[in-house]
Amino acid sequence: MRIAIVGAGPVGFTLARLLLNKPNIDVVVFESEQSREARGQGGSLDLHPDTGLAAVKEAGLWDEFQKRVRYDGESLIVCDKKLIRYLNLPGETEGSSHGRPEIDRRSLREMLLDSVPPEVIRWGHHLRSVDQNHNLIFDRGTESGFDLVVGADGAWSKIRKLVSDQTPNYSGMGGFKFAIPNAKEAFPDSYKLTNRGSLFSYSDGCTIMSQQIGDGSLNIGVWCTLPEDWMEKLPFDVHDMEAVRKHLTDKFHDWHPELLNFIRHAQDPEARSLYMLPVGWRWENRPGVTLIGDAAHVMTPFAGEGVNLGMQDALMLSRAIIMAASSPQPATQLPAQIKIFEEDLFVRAERTASLTNDSLTWLFFTDGSPRTVIDKWALRILTFHDKTLFDRVRKPLLAASLKTYYFLFNLCHAG
Ligand SMILES: Cc1cc2nc3c(=O)[nH]c(=O)nc-3n(C[C@H](O)[C@H](O)[C@H](O)COP(=O)(O)OP(=O)(O)OC[C@H]3O[C@@H](n4cnc5c(N)ncnc54)[C@H](O)[C@@H]3O)c2cc1C
Repeated sequence: MRIAIVGAGPVGFTLARLLLNKPNIDVVVFESEQSREARGQGGSLDLHPDTGLAAVKEAGLWDEFQKRVRYDGESLIVCDKKLIRYLNLPGETEGSSHGRPEIDRRSLREMLLDSVPPEVIRWGHHLRSVDQNHNLIFDRGTESGFDLVVGADGAWSKIRKLVSDQTPNYSGMGGFKFAIPNAKEAFPDSYKLTNRGSLFSYSDGCTIMSQQIGDGSLNIGVWCTLPEDWMEKLPFDVHDMEAVRKHLTDKFHDWHPELLNFIRHAQDPEARSLYMLPVGWRWENRPGVTLIGDAAHVMTPFAGEGVNLGMQDALMLSRAIIMAASSPQPATQLPAQIKIFEEDLFVRAERTASLTNDSLTWLFFTDGSPRTVIDKWALRILTFHDKTLFDRVRKPLLAASLKTYYFLFNLCHAG
């Protein structure tokens, strides 16, 4: 069985690793980038037990993962522009972990790349198009003869065109990513405030976020509700750090000085608009092709679930392919297994996209956020991850406790 995976992001490569050395399966990954060093991989990801971590375990990478993971990265602050802390969780150790350890995006990618022989990946293969016979047309020639083509080629997937005309819609959010290199030494106050984990501040339809990276730097995100053409309307070049800094420090002038410092110390601006597929989007099953990761369900990052859901897709798809390949009739079993896989993906994706969309709406498009939404947002997140809290008695009890707690909290911090 010949499997082509288009895209060597965290999701495509997790699938490649899961299919490696399995009987009757030959896998190849095609990737646009010229080499593994071609692109910076800033940022940190927290992997969750039923999704990202489950895929790491099944891929046989748990021990290697343990060498790279940061349990102290579980520290979390959720605050507003005045630095009033609605949530303030400490960092953890392996023993006390809530099961959401952090790993640098770069480190996750290195771990996955190192875990397969180099000949599995074809660097410098930018897919230009794919025809109805599933011939993959690259800048450097055509590849064909695959039993299954897997689109793991991200938000602007070319493989998606085989199953639908749907493209991602603008989410209403745009902004900048930055880095603060060597924050530990250069800007100890910002480093200390981030507390080796993540800080998310929300107010007025905007956020300033800071995340610790393993090398001592900070990954900064500044996002706001903006019209889709916001970048074109800026009177300066989005790569001009000093112009970007002036623009943002003016815009955020009434935010707490310690939050503003994240912008004052920032470098390497990268302007981005955030796009998403509609919540509940699905496609008609077509034999010989399927989608995983952002290609199937790109969403905004405001619930921190995208890569987790994608790695779970890779896990479920690998099981479907292995089951078909080991059956007496692989050729008929494969399409049947893919159909079952897709039906399950649609349910998982809708559930996660709906959580992400609620987070987006409540945190950025609701007056008085986070004060006015914090209790229902916390309830939504807690019951999403811990399904036992969803029963008839516990959910109302938890809802009432959170409402009371945050009512009193807001009274204490009024004005
Ligand atoms: C600012 C930001 C912060 C985020 N934070 C989090 C977080 O904290 N937690 C979380 O779970 N998720 C987060 N996400 C989402 C997460 O990054 C994505 O869900 C995840 O990267 C999806 O992985 P993927 O492999 O499906 O796609 P990608 O990571 O987009 O990888 C796709 C790969 O396909 C390749 N490719 C694309 N087109 C072609 C082509 N035509 N031919 C060949 N190759 C191609 C690309 O070069 C790339 O290597 C965040 C996203 C953003 C934008």
